[in-house]
Amino acid sequence: MSGFVFSEKPIQIEEGDGSLLYDDSGTEYLDFGASYACVPLGHGHEAVHDAVTEQFEKLTYVQASYPNASRTALYDLLADTAPGDVDYTWLCNSGTEANEAALKFARAATGNSKIVATMQGFHGRTMGALATTWKSKYKKPYEPLMGDVEFVPYGDSEAMADAIDDETAAVIVEPVQGEGGINPGTREFLQTARVETATSGAALIFDEVQTGMGRTGTLWASEWADVVPDMITAAKGLGNGFPVGATLCREWIADNYGSHASTFSGGPVISAAAGATVSTIVEEEIPTHAREVGDYMIGELEAAVGDQVRDVRGEGLMIGVEVGRGANRALKELAITHNVLALPAGRTVVRFLPPLTVTEEEVDQVVDATAEVVGDE
Ligand SMILES: *Cc1c(COP(=O)(O)O)cnc(C)c1O
Repeated sequence: MSGFVFSEKPIQIEEGDGSLLYDDSGTEYLDFGASYACVPLGHGHEAVHDAVTEQFEKLTYVQASYPNASRTALYDLLADTAPGDVDYTWLCNSGTEANEAALKFARAATGNSKIVATMQGFHGRTMGALATTWKSKYKKPYEPLMGDVEFVPYGDSEAMADAIDDETAAVIVEPVQGEGGINPGTREFLQTARVETATSGAALIFDEVQTGMGRTGTLWASEWADVVPDMITAAKGLGNGFPVGATLCREWIADNYGSHASTFSGGPVISAAAGATVSTIVEEEIPTHAREVGDYMIGELEAAVGDQVRDVRGEGLMIGVEVGRGANRALKELAITHNVLALPAGRTVVRFLPPLTVTEEEVDQVVDATAEVVGDE
């Protein structure tokens, strides 16, 4: 018997602590991918451990139609910390589900079907979210997908404005594209989407599955962009490793969402994990730390390898190094020779999404390793 979707790497990970992972023979690795940005507070964080253990002992699961203090506290916390009047929450289990719900809610609330998405964008792999994802390799084998999606070049304000009309149900956009190569959006581009959707009556969805939870230097990248969207989707870091997604909405969406549900929405244990994660990030001002250490890492990378690579770019601790000869060779050498685990973003970008709690010393180790790997090219 064997799993078949993920190609397994030749390192068997068995333990984790903070920014570190350990394989089955006790070898230590710096986890600078945070396992797809899923552990913003690092592995085995005490506050999350305690909240989950306490809730598990009281009640593991009850359906979401019964109020439960753990879930209610999470709803309140998300409403308090989300920008503006984005006060309503739908809880699910993953990023693609959060986006799938957002697309459905937008269609129901507007009565329109057209979705505007961006080139190089990534929104997940279920049939609806996949239709708004750019890369044809992910889509081709499964077509036909949900129709009525128009793609505009990421960052092109004029094309964005032209694509939005009174038939548009929603614009879905990442404030910083992750999977597509770490492409930071400009405030102007994101604000154009806001103004045009507000004028036409369409919903603006910020996909913050990767940018959320403080990664770009504010709890939500929406704050950095100075935009209050109609919906914000979150997942990856939301439960510090526990599977949870959220679609946050304004009232006009929540009042007209149609008919949607999921068996495992907002279980008490998952809600406790997310509640502890978000409150720790806010109370310990983790986004500010992410901004400072992120700026430091970008500066150090530019100084160390700036001349040898095509580009170093990012926001906060969402950082990409575009290498000349393909990211996979560099990633393999980082892992095998330097015990640094990172991620690809497309074919040419090495992507760093470390826990937001990383230290400058840990950053120094990764910058030195990157310099050696790039120097070998
Ligand atoms: C990872 C990701 C998703 C998909 O999330 P899953 O939990 O893998 O379904 C959607 N949008 C963005 C921006 C992502 O980075």
